[in-house]
Amino acid sequence: MERKKSMYLEELIFATQNAGKLAEVKKTAEPYKIKILSPKEAAALKKITTAPPNPQETADSFAGNAEIKARAIYNWCRLPVIGDDSGLEVEALGGAPGLYSSRYAGPEQNAALNRKKLLKELKNETNRRARYVSFIYAVLSDDQFLTATDTLEGSIALEERGSGGFGYDSVFVVNGTGLTLAELKERGIPVKTHRIKALERLFKEISSSVQPA
Ligand code: IMP
Repeated sequence: MERKKSMYLEELIFATQNAGKLAEVKKTAEPYKIKILSPKEAAALKKITTAPPNPQETADSFAGNAEIKARAIYNWCRLPVIGDDSGLEVEALGGAPGLYSSRYAGPEQNAALNRKKLLKELKNETNRRARYVSFIYAVLSDDQFLTATDTLEGSIALEERGSGGFGYDSVFVVNGTGLTLAELKERGIPVKTHRIKALERLFKEISSSVQPA
């Protein structure tokens, strides 16, 4: 989408309360000369005294949930915002846990229990193909938005391996490495995750369409 030539987009708010994700997004944005702010940093900048909203993820797709997150923060601060939603899709489970990745084993969102349930569901399964999916939705102004998506392809291990990362990382073997994402992170081996790849697509599009001030 063509953006107004006079508009130099130097700051984007990332709609998250997760410090780890924020750090990952800030680092990914650096080469594109895009500055990422947390909702808290945006509040300080715009002197907003109300707390940032944390809406329920009620959509039936990653895209819908990413949009809900981005639009809630945009309506709150009126600054350009990106929202993301992600999850794990396992082929033999028809794409589950998918949208329910964080609460696969129950509403308490316990990552260890989620992994345990996944390994149990796949106990006698030979098809262990899986992918992480990331969907990004950026609201740039009242009538401008951009989207990007990407995946990290892999398979589900027979048991947990490695202590780095979070979520399903210790059971997710990254294609072509033989190692789980947790093992790769533990060893400091850089991996372009689904989220980093999707963000890079978005930042490329933004930086190619904005004019320096
Ligand atoms: P959300 O995008 O923060 O809503 O993430 C949803 C859930 O998907 C997380 O709670 C994890 O269970 C899983 N997930 C998404 N991306 C990753 C990842 O990069 N590593 C591990 N788990 C992930």
